[in-house]
Amino acid sequence: MTFSTLGLSDKVLAAVTAAGYTTPTPIQEQAIPIVLEMRDVCGIAQTGTGKTASFVLPMLTRLEQGRARARMPRTLILEPTRELAAQVEEKFNEYGVNHKLNVALLIGGVSFDDQLKKLDRGTDVLIATPGRLLDLFGRGRLLMSGVEILVIDEADRMLDMGFIPDIEKICKMIPPGRQTLMFSATMPPEIQRLADLFLRNPVRIEA
Ligand code: AMP
Repeated sequence: MTFSTLGLSDKVLAAVTAAGYTTPTPIQEQAIPIVLEMRDVCGIAQTGTGKTASFVLPMLTRLEQGRARARMPRTLILEPTRELAAQVEEKFNEYGVNHKLNVALLIGGVSFDDQLKKLDRGTDVLIATPGRLLDLFGRGRLLMSGVEILVIDEADRMLDMGFIPDIEKICKMIPPGRQTLMFSATMPPEIQRLADLFLRNPVRIEA
């Protein structure tokens, strides 16, 4: 199995080669074609399995198609902690090295001013922790109506940290026609309930 048979764009394949990856991991092999088909995904996967690339690579391919409306973000990736959000941003920039995308990292503990300036310039991709995202939305500085792909990463950690009500609020802010990808290391009943509420006929992947 190679990356070239999964349906990824040439720009993405070039970045994968530059990253030194030769073979997709099991989660990548399963998730990439499904994300490209615009289906919802419920993925059971630990960190370290190549989970980040399994959603970022097809997302980048999808972002090459179509155009942002009025500089509004087209994708939102939710992470439970600042550290995870920063790691995903780093990977996003590595895999997206051939794409001219504006990525905003919206996490607590850094000044609102810089984040607001960045948002006002227009962004394609938001990588955020739930609290800061809701805070910025509450200030009227975020338009979510252009979001086409929502990723809820590390859903069971979101649960442990008490973020499920925030996740539900955020899901309701985004148009229902979106594609939703949810990843979790485990599937406790509360996470299954979230999946039942916010995923549409998802493909279940386990790696
Ligand atoms: P993740 O599970 O997304 O945190 O990825 C774990 C590590 O695996 C990261 O350091 C990636 O750079 C690396 N990685 C992801 N996909 C591949 C791949 N197909 N081949 C080799 N390394 C990979």
